[in-house]
Amino acid sequence: VSVWANVKAGPPDAILGITEKFKADTDPKKINLGVGAYRDGNGKPYVLPSVSKAEEILFKEKLDKEYLPITGLASFDKLATELAYGEDSAPIKENRLAVTQSLSGTGALRIGMEFIAEHYPNKSIYLPTPTWGNHNAIAKRAGLTAEKYRYFDPATVGLNFEALKEDIKAAPEGSVILLHACAHNPTGVDPTQEQWKELSQIFKEKKHFPFFDMAYQGFASGDPVRDAFAVRYFVEQGHQILLCQSFAKNLGLYGERVGTLSLVTASPEEKARVDSQIKLLVRPAYSNPPVHGARLVSTILSKPELKEQWLGEVKEMADRIIALREKLYNKLVELKTPGEWGHVKSQIGMFSFTGLKPEQVDQLAEKYHIYLTRDGRISMAGLNDNNIEYFAESVSKVVK
Ligand code: PMP
Repeated sequence: VSVWANVKAGPPDAILGITEKFKADTDPKKINLGVGAYRDGNGKPYVLPSVSKAEEILFKEKLDKEYLPITGLASFDKLATELAYGEDSAPIKENRLAVTQSLSGTGALRIGMEFIAEHYPNKSIYLPTPTWGNHNAIAKRAGLTAEKYRYFDPATVGLNFEALKEDIKAAPEGSVILLHACAHNPTGVDPTQEQWKELSQIFKEKKHFPFFDMAYQGFASGDPVRDAFAVRYFVEQGHQILLCQSFAKNLGLYGERVGTLSLVTASPEEKARVDSQIKLLVRPAYSNPPVHGARLVSTILSKPELKEQWLGEVKEMADRIIALREKLYNKLVELKTPGEWGHVKSQIGMFSFTGLKPEQVDQLAEKYHIYLTRDGRISMAGLNDNNIEYFAESVSKVVK
């Protein structure tokens, strides 16, 4: 008898499991709208030209493959956090931002939540409803209790700001509250700048701890600076935020696993203590982060011409998605699809939260070979000129 005879099969991942089903489907019309990975106009994965240029530069430099320090490549840590916080950000200038390179956004979330579990008095974290499914699992593994605050209003397919404020005000003083910095996943609905300001005020009054997840900087508006508004505003207002930053989407570096975890501290001395504790979490988890992705980001952000090119490419990706929203909306209306579809246009970022019901999602897969998560979320970038009509027609049929 095998040692593992009693291991039970676990459920497939709610998002990555969809790709498996998609791959197994042999119909040529099949469409995968499950995973949030950008696709070009032909439905193919996209390597940003600025990244290819950085690859060439690095190749010529014939660098070694030695280990990085536990907290990663110093030039990367600096440039990456300047992109998020702004070059003039006080915590950076005053050398009181504790930064570590992370295994993309997920790795930052995991180490960040472990840090909270170990060093923050409160052991729970408030997550928006709905949120990226992995947030719950990460919180649990890190030893935190996941609590909820209301965020989305299915009736308006928009933000339920009143309910959000009510829940945040009702949370015990000093609660840790996770905020999607921009392009909320899965809803594509963000607070306005005025609403962020109000939230900052409530956080102050309640002494809440803002735990930011920024996986889509640049994808909301096409401009990374604009998308960093919430993060920068909270820091300006004196909040000691924690930030998880990912370069998976905005640089297309999904598989390179590159991001940062950063915490605003009060002084260089405090920063050094926080750094030392982060090292104690990273060392037994994966020792030190991978070098290649960090070198790519560092190369692009340090060379003004390459950075300029990259900013153009981010805008192009965001604009293509915005154009697709317009097309999809027009098509659905043209087909007289029952329901109100304005949210397809008004939502932002990589996803649209369509409002399709789980049974309709199942029908799309079974009858039409179209794959998306059962909450009705579609990754807009999976659509293109070749499949958008077929998609709209299929949606129209399952809704009618
Ligand atoms: N946070 C959110 C809200 C996300 O949508 C994602 C990616 N789907 C991540 C974090 C982490 O992604 P990664 O680990 O690839 O950076």
